[in-house]
Amino acid sequence: MVGVPERFVIIGGGPAGNVAATYAARLGAEVTVIERDVIGGAAHLWDCIPSKSMIATGGAMSFMRRSQGMGLEQEDPVIDTGGLTGRIDQIKANMRDNTTQLLESQNVRLIRGTGAFTSANSVEVTTAEGTETIEFDSALVSTGSQPRIPDWCHPDGERILTTRDCYPPTVFPDSVTVVGSGVTGVEFVHMFSSFGAKVTLVVSRQQVLPGKDPEVAAVLEQEFMDRGVKLLMGARAEAIERIDADGNPDPDGSQVIVRCDDGRSVTSSHAVLAIGSVPNTADIGLDRAGVEVNRWGYVDINHHCVTNVPHIYAAGDISGKLPLSSVASIQGRKVAEHVMGLHTRSHRHLDYDKAASAIFTEPEIADVGLAEAEAFASGRKIRVTKVPFSATAKAMINNDTRGFVKIISDPATGVILGGSIVGRHAAELISVIAVAVTAGLTVTDIVESILVHPALSEALAEAAE
Ligand SMILES: Cc1cc2nc3c(=O)[nH]c(=O)nc-3n(C[C@H](O)[C@H](O)[C@H](O)COP(=O)(O)OP(=O)(O)OC[C@H]3O[C@@H](n4cnc5c(N)ncnc54)[C@H](O)[C@@H]3O)c2cc1C
Repeated sequence: MVGVPERFVIIGGGPAGNVAATYAARLGAEVTVIERDVIGGAAHLWDCIPSKSMIATGGAMSFMRRSQGMGLEQEDPVIDTGGLTGRIDQIKANMRDNTTQLLESQNVRLIRGTGAFTSANSVEVTTAEGTETIEFDSALVSTGSQPRIPDWCHPDGERILTTRDCYPPTVFPDSVTVVGSGVTGVEFVHMFSSFGAKVTLVVSRQQVLPGKDPEVAAVLEQEFMDRGVKLLMGARAEAIERIDADGNPDPDGSQVIVRCDDGRSVTSSHAVLAIGSVPNTADIGLDRAGVEVNRWGYVDINHHCVTNVPHIYAAGDISGKLPLSSVASIQGRKVAEHVMGLHTRSHRHLDYDKAASAIFTEPEIADVGLAEAEAFASGRKIRVTKVPFSATAKAMINNDTRGFVKIISDPATGVILGGSIVGRHAAELISVIAVAVTAGLTVTDIVESILVHPALSEALAEAAE
C-alpha cells in the first residue's frame, strides 16, 4: 500500500537494483541495498560503461581517419593509453557518484557486503566488519551475470581474455581472435579493429549477429571485411591455448591458438571469449528462501517480476529476459511499483518484444519490435519500406552515407510494428520507432510530424511515406 513503510531489501546494486531502490524509497519504502562491489553494478564497472567508452575512442579514431573526405589534412591518430584509462575511470567514478548520491538522497541504506538469503524473510550480509541479519517484508534479487566460460577454455587474464579482462586497456593487442559473433563479440571486433589490431572473428553460423535481420548483418560483415577483419564463418571454437614461437603448448607463450571443430585454427597475440553470460544465482541462498531457478540457472518471473515466492522479486540479467541494462532498469522500476502496490489493471505490463536494442559498431545498428524474417516465418502480412541514408542531405554533409532505415508496418492500418536502422546515430534514432511501436503510432503519425532539416531523421520520415 502506498505510504506504508515496507522493509524492502535488494541484493545487487546494478541497474535493476538501484532503480528499484530509488523508486521504492520515493514511494515510501524503507530500502536497503546490499552491494559487494560498486553501486551501478557490472554495467558501470565492466560492461556498458567501459566498453562504450573504449568504443567511443575507437570511433573518434576512425572518424579522424575518414575526415580527409571533409577537407581536412589529418595525421593518423595515436592512442594515449594513460589518457584513455583515465577518461574511462573518470566516467565510471562520475556514474558511481551520481547513482550513490541519488540513493542516499532518498535515504536508502547502502551496505557494502555480500548478501545471501537465510530464510524467506531474512538476508545475511557479510561485510569487512562482520555479519548482519536483515529482516524484510519484500526483497529483490538483482545479482546480475558473469561471462560464460566453457570447459575448453581457461582465461588467464593476460592473453586469453573474457570481455571483463579487456579493461583497463594496458596492452593493445597486435592481433586478436574474437570468439562469438553476437552483440558483444562484434562490438569487441569493432573496438580492436578501430585501434588498429589485426582481428579474426570466429562465427559459428553463416552470419554474424545470428537472429538479426540478414540485411543488417550483411552491412556489418562488409564493413568488417573492408577493414581487413577476417571472418571465419561456420566455425565453432573447441579449444583455446597459449603456444610458443614454435607452435608448442606453453602457458607462458606469446601466441594464442584458437582451434575449431572443423579443423581450422587461428593464431594471434590475444583471444577474447564473448559467448554469452551465466546468471549469478549460486551461493545467494535462493533455496533457503524457497526461490526456484530454472535449468539454466535463471530465476523465472511473472510480468510483475515476481518469483515463485510472492514477496520476492528478481530483475535484470538473472531473470533470463533480455540481458540489457535498459531492460534491467525498467524491470527495477516495475518491481518498486509492485512492491508499493501501484500496479493496477490499467498498468502497462513490460513487453520485452518491444524493447529497443543497439549494437555499438560502426556503422551502429539498432532495432525494435517485429523483424521482417519473424513476420515471414509467422505468415503475418507486413509492409516493409527501406530508405538509404545516402538519400539524405545530412548523411552527405557528415561524409558518411552508409546504412539505411527500415520500417515495418501493418499494411491495413499503418500501425508501426518494428524497424531497424543501420548507420550513424542509429542507437539514438531508433527511439522514434521504439516510441511509435510502444504507443501504437501509425506511419501517418511520423509523416505528419514536422522533423528537422537537415537531419538523419529525414530518412525515417521518408521510410514512413
Ligand atoms: C561487454 C558488455 C557490454 C554491455 N553493453 C551494454 C550496453 O551498451 N547497453 C545495455 O543496455 N546493456 C549492455 N550490457 C548488458 C548489461 O551490462 C547488463 O544487462 C546489466 O548490467 C544487467 O544489470 P543487472 O542489474 O542485472 O546486473 P549487474 O549490472 O551485473 O549488477 C549486479 C550487481 O550485483 C552485485 N552482486 C552479485 N552478487 C551479490 C551478492 N551476493 N551480494 C551483494 N552484491 C552482489 C554485483 O557486484 C553487481 O554489482 C553489456 C554487457 C556486456 C558483457
